[in-house]
Amino acid sequence: MTISFRDNIEKMSGYTPGFQPADLSAVKLNTNENPYPPSPRVIAALRNLEPELLRRYPPQRWDAFRTAAAEVFGVDPEMIVCGNGADEILTILVRCCCDRDRPLAYPVLTYSLYPELARIQDCPVLEVPFDDYGNIPPRLYETGAALTILCNPNAPTGTFIAPQQVAQLAGRLSGVLLVDEAYVDFAETNCLHLLDACDNLVILRSMSKAYSLAGMRFGFAVASRRIVAAMLKVKDSYNVNIAAQVAALAAIKDQDYCHANVRRITAQRERLITALRRMGLEPGDSHTNFILVKFTRPPAREVYEKLCARNIYVRHFPQPELADKLRISVGSEQQNDTLLDALREILQPA
Ligand SMILES: *Cc1c(COP(=O)(O)O)cnc(C)c1O
Repeated sequence: MTISFRDNIEKMSGYTPGFQPADLSAVKLNTNENPYPPSPRVIAALRNLEPELLRRYPPQRWDAFRTAAAEVFGVDPEMIVCGNGADEILTILVRCCCDRDRPLAYPVLTYSLYPELARIQDCPVLEVPFDDYGNIPPRLYETGAALTILCNPNAPTGTFIAPQQVAQLAGRLSGVLLVDEAYVDFAETNCLHLLDACDNLVILRSMSKAYSLAGMRFGFAVASRRIVAAMLKVKDSYNVNIAAQVAALAAIKDQDYCHANVRRITAQRERLITALRRMGLEPGDSHTNFILVKFTRPPAREVYEKLCARNIYVRHFPQPELADKLRISVGSEQQNDTLLDALREILQPA
C-alpha cells in the first residue's frame, strides 16, 4: 500500500523547535522559557483541582479566565479567545483568513512558525524584509494579504515597533493584522489600546514567557467581536484543557508576581548585554527575554557546540542571515553567570 498526503504536506519539512534536553539541570537558554517558577498560586490551584472537573469536559469559552483577564486588561470578556498556547491561536487565525487566493504576509526575519502554518493551509506567503533597524518595511502596506502578522517585539531580533506605527499599518491594511505580543511583557509598552480604533486588529499573548507556563500550554488573543466570532467557529470545542484553564486563571490574577519576575529578567537582560559588550561582542538592544548576539571568532556554530559540551543550550538557527548569530534566552542570575564564564573561556584567544 502506498499512502500519500496533500502536496503541500509532502513538500514541507515542518517547524523545528528548540532542543529539549532530558537533563533538568542543563542550563537551558534556547527556547525563551522563564527561568523562574510560576506563581505559587498556580501550584496551589492545580493541587486543589477538583477531580470532578477532570471527569467533565472543560469550559468551551474559558469563562473564568476571560472574566479575570478582561478585568486585568480593561477589555470586554467577549473580545478574548483562548488557545492551547498562543501557537494554536495562530493556527486558528490562519485557518480563518487564508487559502490559495488569500495570502499571509509578514516581515522577515521573524518567528519561523508563520511560514509552516501557511504551508499547512496551502496559502501564498508574502515575506517582506525588515530594514536594518527593524522598522515596518513600506512594502508591507501594499501586499493585499488577507492576514498580516507582525511579531512585536520581534523574534529572534528583539526589536520593537512603536504602537503609533502599528496603528498606521492597521489603518492602511484591508485585511486582518495580528500583532504577536508573545514577548510584550518584557517591553515598555504594547498595542492593546489600539483595539479601540482598529477593528481589523488581533493582539496575541502567551502565558509561556512572562507567566512561566510554557509546559501548561495557554495563550490568548484580544480582538473585535467580528474576528472573535470567526475564530470561535474554527476552534475545537474544548481546545484548552481544564488544568491549563485553572493554572492560567491563577497566573493572570497574580499580576504582582508576574511583574516582579519580569523586572528580575529585564535587569538580568541589561546585565548580560553589558557583560557581553565588555567581552567585545555587540548584542543588539532587546525588548524581550532573549538577546541576539553575533560571533565571529570562534564562529557562532563553534561557540554553540562548545556551550552544548558544557551542558549550556542556546539557539543557533539554520537561516543564512542568522548563521553568525546565537539567540540566548535570559536566564536566572546563576544561569547567566555560568553562561558568561563559559563564554569568557570559549572566546579567549588560544
Ligand atoms: C513563544 C512564542 C509564541 C507561542 O507561545 P505559546 O507557547 O504557544 O503560547 C508565539 N509567538 C512567538 C513569537 C513566540 O516566541
